[in-house]
Amino acid sequence: MQKTLFALLELQEVDNRLDELMDERGDLPVIVDELKTKLKTKKRDLGLFKNQLTELKKQNAELQKVISESQSKMKKYEEQLYLVKTNKEYDAITSETEQARKHMETGKKSLESVNSKIEDVSEKILMLTEEIKNMDQELESNSIELESKMQTTQEEENMLMQERKIVLGKLLPQVVKQYELVRKARNGQGIALVQNNVCGGCYSYIPPQKIAEVRKMKEIHTCEACGRILVWDTNKN
Ligand SMILES: [Zn+2]
Repeated sequence: MQKTLFALLELQEVDNRLDELMDERGDLPVIVDELKTKLKTKKRDLGLFKNQLTELKKQNAELQKVISESQSKMKKYEEQLYLVKTNKEYDAITSETEQARKHMETGKKSLESVNSKIEDVSEKILMLTEEIKNMDQELESNSIELESKMQTTQEEENMLMQERKIVLGKLLPQVVKQYELVRKARNGQGIALVQNNVCGGCYSYIPPQKIAEVRKMKEIHTCEACGRILVWDTNKN
């Protein structure tokens, strides 16, 4: 059991250093991740707007064609009107002209609405493109910073992870589980040294009887107040 307790102390030390390394990276990994997610959404939106613009431009071309066809028809009817000989012919041409005019007017109205949509979507594309450009730059500078921070700590992290693996090999899974649970609940500290009759984690008083038990190192004892695994501090007691 003494070995277990010493291994736990070692594990805590390794984990403390690993936590420190993670702290040095700060918010950068989260910032980089968030930027990547946002960029993905923005780029998808940009693609959708670009498709919309292509579709609208197609509509614009079709409407222009309708309008110019109606205009030529009207012009043709106007010329024919000079050549009519009967009232019936005159009425027929007038009605055709009216129809062509209606066609042209509806076409113009639709064209107006399509053009205003084109303006709208083009503006959105411009804004998004600018936004994406800025975000890309931000992501790049953050990524470079993160990478350089990681490079300086990577070697040490690898060593610590290796050490952690070795220490874990000395511990029973249920002990590791207990340690991890307390560590998670207690700000990274799963182990507490007993010093001057108090728990080194939460400074709660520990009765002499329990101290005597902890000192024997025959079982795992936890602090009743904070739940940390208590280890006798052989250096300071
Ligand atoms: Zn405690």
